[in-house]
Amino acid sequence: MTERLSPTDVPRAAALLREGALVSFPTETVYGLGADARNGRAVAAIFEAKGRPHFNPLISHFPDAESAFAEVVPDDRARALAARFWPGPLTLVLPRRADSRIDLLTGAGLDTLAVRVPAHPLAQALLRAAGTPVAAPSANRSGGVSPTTAAHVLEGLSGRIAAVVDGGPCEVGVESTVLDLSGLTPVLLRPGGVPAEAIEAVTGPLLRPEQAGEGEALRSPGMMLSHYAPGLPVRLDAREAAPDEALLAFGPPLPGAAVTWNLSGRGDPAEAAARLFAGLRWLDAEGARLNLRGIAAMPVPMAGLGEAINDRLRRAAAPR
Ligand code: AMP
Ligand code: MG
Repeated sequence: MTERLSPTDVPRAAALLREGALVSFPTETVYGLGADARNGRAVAAIFEAKGRPHFNPLISHFPDAESAFAEVVPDDRARALAARFWPGPLTLVLPRRADSRIDLLTGAGLDTLAVRVPAHPLAQALLRAAGTPVAAPSANRSGGVSPTTAAHVLEGLSGRIAAVVDGGPCEVGVESTVLDLSGLTPVLLRPGGVPAEAIEAVTGPLLRPEQAGEGEALRSPGMMLSHYAPGLPVRLDAREAAPDEALLAFGPPLPGAAVTWNLSGRGDPAEAAARLFAGLRWLDAEGARLNLRGIAAMPVPMAGLGEAINDRLRRAAAPR
């Protein structure tokens, strides 16, 4: 049985984490599936619960920059970014400290670690109460759509995890931006909640993994092309909609679809990001119920959170 905890149950959730149990909790991006990052068995249980085929590196979460930088070696860029964007939806990949007690499985045996300080008040309270770094990928079955409510978490993981702390819907709605600072030039491994432009204002130009001369898979193990996949096929860049399609709209919706979820009627990328995963889930369920052929996604401009939205849509549409 998975306990459904309320915000006042944070001490209980922290105790479960310290015992090595799995606890899902809200962050401003999506719901995370947390385990004590220093406990290898607890971290292994994350992969088990998600049904992840590989030991991809996980992000470790901290209540503040000081505790994060106790596990990794920050440089000036990392300090400047932390001062500007933490707490918030930014993950930094940095060299692991030789004396870090984070379990090797958390970092998948790499000599770098991904660290983040989430802003959500419940995540903050839980991390402080737990008193240990918390490894947390998104709280969904591997390859599926990320959860932005406690109900989404339970749809995928009920019975497989000890508890979920219900903090209502997530505000940002797409995962954190992952920035690799282990090399000379920062590499944007995953577009996310902090737009690339905002980071570039601090660090100067970022490289995309293709430009770093390494395969994306190599640089960021676990960034599978097919991901965030609903059951129905997704068609990108839709300029018209058919009566046997479900429509993921942005701005004024195309006519003719069987059902429509509008990410943002006024064309606001931040509103669209917050409604993306709930929309994919809803259209998928409605599409299955109505026996539709697939989900048609209208184009979303790349500016701001648009880059993260387009990244997730491209993965949702990728061959499985
Ligand atoms: P998720 O598990 O969905 O939160 O995704 C975490 C992302 O961070 C994955 O795409 C990982 O590949 C990436 N990541 C975590 N740790 C590292 C690391 N040490 N080096 C490069 N990428 C990392
Ligand atoms: Mg995920």
